[in-house]
Amino acid sequence: MRPALLLMLALAAPGQDWTPLFDGKTLKGWTPRATTAPGTGDWAIRDGAIYCGGKEPGWLSTDAAFRDFRLQLEFKGPADVNSGVFLRSQKEGQPHVTGYELQIWEMQPQGYLTGSLVGSLKAGPAKIKANEWNHYDITARGDHFVVKLNGQTVLDARDGKHREGHIGFQCQPKQTIWFRDIRVQRLKRAGLTAGEVLGRIQKGVAVPWQEKTVDTLKSGTVDTPVTGIVTTFMATLEVLQKAAAEGKNMIITHEPTFYLHDDSTEATANDPTVIAKKALIEKHNLVIFRFHDHWHRRQPDGIRVGMMKALGWENGMPEGLTLRELAEAVKKRLGIAAVRMIGDPGMKAGRIALTPGYASLHGSMRELAKSDVLIIGEAREWEVYEYVQDQIASGQKKGLIVLGHASSEEGGMKEAAEWLRGLVPELPVAHIAAGHLFTVQ
Ligand SMILES: [Zn+2]
Repeated sequence: MRPALLLMLALAAPGQDWTPLFDGKTLKGWTPRATTAPGTGDWAIRDGAIYCGGKEPGWLSTDAAFRDFRLQLEFKGPADVNSGVFLRSQKEGQPHVTGYELQIWEMQPQGYLTGSLVGSLKAGPAKIKANEWNHYDITARGDHFVVKLNGQTVLDARDGKHREGHIGFQCQPKQTIWFRDIRVQRLKRAGLTAGEVLGRIQKGVAVPWQEKTVDTLKSGTVDTPVTGIVTTFMATLEVLQKAAAEGKNMIITHEPTFYLHDDSTEATANDPTVIAKKALIEKHNLVIFRFHDHWHRRQPDGIRVGMMKALGWENGMPEGLTLRELAEAVKKRLGIAAVRMIGDPGMKAGRIALTPGYASLHGSMRELAKSDVLIIGEAREWEVYEYVQDQIASGQKKGLIVLGHASSEEGGMKEAAEWLRGLVPELPVAHIAAGHLFTVQ
């Protein structure tokens, strides 16, 4: 057996899963980023390793975020090489400020030499092997860091500044450095509580949390340990059953659980369907959180972003379609049996506007003043529909496509699942569609 393979076997105890972060051929899973100066580093693949030639500064980050992990890698550079491995850094900003920099440099003026977390923790004496492969073995568990260089523990200390983020490599001007055999193991820690998940959502959504909002817990408590997360347009009985069957006990729903905007059940407490739903929630200890106002307030609106993806319109609205062709395209993309439509099917759908969810009269008037066709979730059946009917009767070429509320927003909650995966990497996150309600006779 090759020595490298023996080493790998020795380090990987049974039952531990290592995930390679580098395929030896491409930068798949990695993104070059800027530090302070322009440029993102001249990253390349050479001889099965990631190579920085030092033409311009920058750093290379994993796309995935990590919280508690063990990381192993090999690096090679000249004796005086100045580089580093970033731990728990954020994508934007300076990675050694937003996270930790594990030093690779023997001459740092403040004494944060190889093996140190720059500015935070100083390593014991350590020397790299010049122009040879060196091995880093890093364990980051909560605030506890253990760093081994070539098998020798050079750092075993605590610092709690940064809790999670991306792994990365530093590229400095006039410095050449190589990295290879990069693998990571996520470490399990005591589960997050619903309150901790909510804390991350409130911070991550990046808009001020409203005092008056429907975005509150509808069942369960903040100290419930979370086993997994499901996002959905609406926490219907079926969605709750599926979530429980998957062993995920936190449901993040866009619309209410108990059919009224404020989710009050005083007036419906004796209804057998409401009773059955509450019993299921209690049986499986489900935590239900409504994520409506703030997901819409996010810049850009999280529901809208997800719907544009679901429709395949991330790069712009379709052009040159008739109203009928547009309706067909939307049906096909969203997988719905039928849409309702007002207007001449043969008219050109020139400028198209999209309003997921409920469409108010005033909002729809504004959109229709700027566009030829408006696509909405739903409206009251004596407001927008009749307004468009009257626009047409008065000689204007207008069209309206009605998707249904659920079909017009579900893609936005699939997007929420995607977003949460980055925000809560410790937990499994799934999207379960509430489904298209109607069949067509
Ligand atoms: Zn909505």
